[in-house]
Amino acid sequence: MKGCGGFSLVGIEGGRCGVYPMRCKKWSCPVCGPHKVKKTLARTRAGMALGTCRFFTLTSPGSDDAETSYAMFPERWKRFRMRVERRWGRIEYLAVVERQKRGAAHVHVVYRGPYIPQAWLSRVAAECGFGRIADIRRSNPQLMRYLAKYLTKELSDPTAAPPRYFRRVRWSRNWCVWEKRGRTVPYQDWWIVDAPAPLAAIDARRLGFVVDEVGADGSSPGFNRHWSIRWMKSLAGYRPFSPLDPDRA
Ligand SMILES: [Zn+2]
Repeated sequence: MKGCGGFSLVGIEGGRCGVYPMRCKKWSCPVCGPHKVKKTLARTRAGMALGTCRFFTLTSPGSDDAETSYAMFPERWKRFRMRVERRWGRIEYLAVVERQKRGAAHVHVVYRGPYIPQAWLSRVAAECGFGRIADIRRSNPQLMRYLAKYLTKELSDPTAAPPRYFRRVRWSRNWCVWEKRGRTVPYQDWWIVDAPAPLAAIDARRLGFVVDEVGADGSSPGFNRHWSIRWMKSLAGYRPFSPLDPDRA
């Protein structure tokens, strides 16, 4: 079984094609992990630049084991957000969920919105199933740089990774407007090729295709990422062949 990037996605349209490395997009991946950290840091900073932000951390109650704390997190977080918005109006936030030392989930939250007294936050956090809040701080430009780093510092630590399929970074719709990198992919047909992108590109050119683009390391095509995730999952038991070359199929 090849690792991340060992397979490529090839988009074909007439005699033209684009070749892209297939990425697993896991936090623990040595290629994808750092890329995701960088993206999260950029997203954090972009939203922080739009106005005064405040910062707080929610913990899991001491009675939770690690597994319970992650299982309960989405429901607690939803209840907590609803309580905040009912009382203080809409807030824009970005939240990063990490493991505490004992393995349970805690969440760092940075938000733009009104000041919320710590006593209120603490009480409502506990009522929503979280532990008591340690701290709420208002950010200034120097602190913002620090916070962006602090929010994302644990992302590159594999021992702080959440369980599989757990969404580690969450943000409100208007935290920032994110310009999607990458092109509008014009290709009609997509194939998986059993080769890293640079080799798949050579293969394609040898077969007479005009290669429009070869995706760089860390990049991936800007189409439905659920497709590639599904494909990666279904690669167990995959029989290698190049669809570009019918003789090898
Ligand atoms: Zn990967």
